[in-house]
Amino acid sequence: MTASDLDTSLRVSALVKRIVRDDVRAMSAYHVPVSSGMVKLDAMENPYRLPDALRTELGALAADAEINRYPDPEARVLKAVLRDALEVPEGMEMLLGNGSDEIIQLLAMACARPGACMLGMEPSFVMFSMVARFCGLRFFGVRLTRDFALDTDAVIAAMNRYSPPLTFIACPNNPTGNLFDARAVETIIRNAIGLVVIDEAYHPFARTSFMPRLGEFPNLLVMRTLSKLGLAGLRLGVLAGSPEWIFEFNKMRLPYNVNVLTQLVTARVLKNPQVLSAQAARIRDERGRMINALGRIEGVKPYPSDANFIMFSVPGAEAVFQKLLNQHVLIKKLTGSHPALLDCLRVTVGTAEENDKFLVALAAALD
Ligand SMILES: *Cc1c(COP(=O)(O)O)cnc(C)c1O
Repeated sequence: MTASDLDTSLRVSALVKRIVRDDVRAMSAYHVPVSSGMVKLDAMENPYRLPDALRTELGALAADAEINRYPDPEARVLKAVLRDALEVPEGMEMLLGNGSDEIIQLLAMACARPGACMLGMEPSFVMFSMVARFCGLRFFGVRLTRDFALDTDAVIAAMNRYSPPLTFIACPNNPTGNLFDARAVETIIRNAIGLVVIDEAYHPFARTSFMPRLGEFPNLLVMRTLSKLGLAGLRLGVLAGSPEWIFEFNKMRLPYNVNVLTQLVTARVLKNPQVLSAQAARIRDERGRMINALGRIEGVKPYPSDANFIMFSVPGAEAVFQKLLNQHVLIKKLTGSHPALLDCLRVTVGTAEENDKFLVALAAALD
């Protein structure tokens, strides 16, 4: 580096410090580990590819797509397909996002009155608290009970204390994998101050939903994503709820947030929803096999799962995670991220072959 390079670099640093928000400079970016060459069981992706004939058809669709034009900002064709595939009730509207992560952000931006607080559960999906911070909302996480159930009294007490305009409940929950009791969720919705968003990212693996009940509660929204079902690379999230809500949140959305290829390909794939639902069924079968296999390993305790991943505890989880990595098996390390997750790891359910590789590597790591 020359003296003048150094001078420029110092001037840039000084400018960054003056211009970028202090809280933003203090944040660390969401970390995605390198996964090439790994048995990749860290991110709840569907491990199966689409059938060859369908892939050929999607190739032709992409070839003919008018990528020189902006996408339909309202994604009308796709929304019609989604309404059927997701069984969005009549009279309810949809908002589409570039993944459901973007929808969380749109909701937060629209509700970020000065001093307002977002409520979430703990431990749960980290994006809720991250987005709250981006948007200048305070965040309060209500601890789940020891077996990771909803503590309805604590949630309602927190609502009375912080008056959150937004409360997010991931159901099934990530990273714990369990489905919350529907009556507990209902109690929270009925007593809520503000909106309750049920994040049903893992719906294909739980197959129970608040979607058909949207009309019962004026303060309920249901969020879905196609990521865990098998289209993670396309980035499409869906928020369903009363038109009055969707009308307001839609103003926060950048007009072309769902691109041409995502609209075309998703609409085509969901026209035959049984392709992806059959893959989800295989994943559910494998999940049962994995939970059994994990439970038979000395010292390993798998938690119940209604999702496409399994959280388990194992003594020395940090070292076990590293030994798996050394064997080119990438899962998710939870221990250290929250006190309730001490010695916990999370593995995504992959193909039978991938799962076997993971189980063999885990046995070797514990040897
Ligand atoms: C994975 C996940 C999402 C994110 O989904 P995208 O649509 O891919 O942005 C949302 N909520 C929960 C609980 C998740 O686990």
